[in-house]
Amino acid sequence: MPRPIVATTDLAAMRANLSRARAVAPGSKIWAVVKADAYGHGLQNGLKGFADADGLSLIEFDCAVRLRDLGWTRPIMMMQGMFESSDLKLIVEHRLQPVIHTAEQLEMLEAFASPIPVDVHLKINTGMNRLGFPAEQARDVWQRLSAMPSVGKVSMITHFANADQATADPDVEEQMRRFRLAIEGLPGEVSVSNSPATLLHPELRCDWIRPGVMLYGGSPGGGSAESFGLKPAMRLSSRLIAVQSLRPGDSVGYGSLFRAEHGMRIGIVACGYADGYPRHAPTGTPVVVNGRRTRLLGRVSMDMLNVDLTDLPDTGVGAEVMLWGDGLPVDEVAQAAGTIGYELMCAITPRVQRATTA
Ligand SMILES: *Cc1c(COP(=O)(O)O)cnc(C)c1O
Repeated sequence: MPRPIVATTDLAAMRANLSRARAVAPGSKIWAVVKADAYGHGLQNGLKGFADADGLSLIEFDCAVRLRDLGWTRPIMMMQGMFESSDLKLIVEHRLQPVIHTAEQLEMLEAFASPIPVDVHLKINTGMNRLGFPAEQARDVWQRLSAMPSVGKVSMITHFANADQATADPDVEEQMRRFRLAIEGLPGEVSVSNSPATLLHPELRCDWIRPGVMLYGGSPGGGSAESFGLKPAMRLSSRLIAVQSLRPGDSVGYGSLFRAEHGMRIGIVACGYADGYPRHAPTGTPVVVNGRRTRLLGRVSMDMLNVDLTDLPDTGVGAEVMLWGDGLPVDEVAQAAGTIGYELMCAITPRVQRATTA
C-alpha cells in the first residue's frame, strides 16, 4: 500500500480560473505561467488545464521542450531567457521566445547565426531591480535587437514589485509610468501584469497578461482567493494512521512543543515536512478531518503531524484528512506558517502520490 498522502490537481478549477482571468482582462491575451512544474501541479496538468491559453510561460528549458513534445503548438515564453548560448539551439528548434534582460544575452544573440528569426521579449527594469535593462537604455537595446538578422518580433515586458500592496514604493503606477516612458513610440506587444496586477489593477492590462498563482486558485495577496472568484486547483489529503489519548501534562512529538492541559484525543496524520508540508506551521494551523475543521498540535515532523480530535469523537484511524483544498485555502495554511500559498504549492515532494480530476 502506498502512503495515503495524495496531491490532487483539479483541471476544471484551472480552466475556471483561466476563464476568470479572461473575464477580468477582456481583450488581453494570456501567457499562463507554468514555471516550477506548473506551480507544483504537474506540467502536463498545466498543459491540459490551460489548453485555452494564448501562450505558456516558464523558465526551465527541459520543461519547455516537454511542452512541445506533449503537443503544445502556441507560443512559449522563456521568462529568464538563455542561461548560456547553447540554449539558443533549443530556442530555434522548439520556437521558444526568450526574454532578453542582460548585455550578455544580447551578445549571445548577436553571435548566433539563426536559421529562423527568433521572437524576443525585451525586459525593462522599472524598479523591481532583479532582471532587466535600465529604463533609459530600453530604446538603444530595442534598436540593437531590431537590427539583428537573427531577431524577429520584439515585445516588451516589465515586472511589478508591489502589485499587491497599495502603499509600497515603487507602486505599480510609478513602475508603469517609467515603463510607458521607456517604450514610448516603440512598436511591439507589451505585457506587464502578474496575478496581483491582473486582479487588483485591471486597468493596467496590456496586449498580454502573465498570471500565475491565480490560475491555480491561490491568492496573490490583497484578498482571499474566493473573494477573487478563484477555485483551488490543488487538494492535499491524507489519513489518520494512529490515534492517541493524552493525559493532562502529556506532550506530543519532538521538543514536546504541545502539552495537554486536559485529557484529550489526538490523531497522527501521514503528512510531514518531507511531503512538503511546512515545518514552521505552529499549533493552531487549520486542518480538516472528516470534513470538519480542527487544528495542528505541536511540531510537524518529517513524515507525520498531529491534530486535535477533541471535538471529533467519531474519528479514528483511516479518517480523511485535508491539509488544504476546497474549504481550506492553501493561503490560510501558508499564513499560519509565515509564508505564502505559492511556496506551499511548489513544495510538494516527489514521494507524494498524484491524482488528477477532470
Ligand atoms: C512568476 C512570474 C509571473 C507570475 O506571477 P504570479 O504572481 O504567480 O501571477 C509573471 N511574470 C514573471 C516574469 C514571473 O516570473
